[in-house]
Amino acid sequence: MTERTGGCLCSAVRYTITTDKTGLGACSCGQCRRHTGSLLVTLDGPGEAITFTEGAPAVYPSSSWAERGFCRGCGSTLFYRVTAGRMAGWTAMAAGTLDSLAGLRIENEVFADGTGGAYVLAGAHERLTGEETMKTYSGAGA
Ligand SMILES: [Zn+2]
Ligand SMILES: [Zn+2]
Repeated sequence: MTERTGGCLCSAVRYTITTDKTGLGACSCGQCRRHTGSLLVTLDGPGEAITFTEGAPAVYPSSSWAERGFCRGCGSTLFYRVTAGRMAGWTAMAAGTLDSLAGLRIENEVFADGTGGAYVLAGAHERLTGEETMKTYSGAGA
C-alpha cells in the first residue's frame, strides 16, 4: 500500500490516504462544479484509508447521502464522502490537495457533459454522461 500525503491551502488540515489505487475519478456534476469552482478530481478509498493528521475539516451535508469536507480557514475543497447506504464511509479526496500527483492518472469521469463542453478532459479514460452516470450508480448519488 502507498501512503500519500495532502492538505489544504493554508496547511491547517493535513491528511494521509493509504491506497494502491492510481486511478483518479473526475466529476462535473452541478454540486462538484459549485463546491470546487470547476470540477472535482479525486483519489478515493474507504474511510479507514484516510487519516487527518492535523486539524479537522469542516463538513457540509450536500445531500441526504453525502457530505463535502473543506477547510474552514482557507476554503479548500478536501473531500466528498458518502454517508448513507452500502457505500457509507467511502471517501473521495480532492486530488488537487495531494502533495504530489506523481503516478496518478484520471481513470473515469462521471457527469462528463456537466460542463456543456466548455472544458473537456483529454485522454482515453472512461466517460459517462450525467444520464449514464445516474443509470450506472443509481442511488449512489452525486
Ligand atoms: Zn486551510
Ligand atoms: Zn459530482
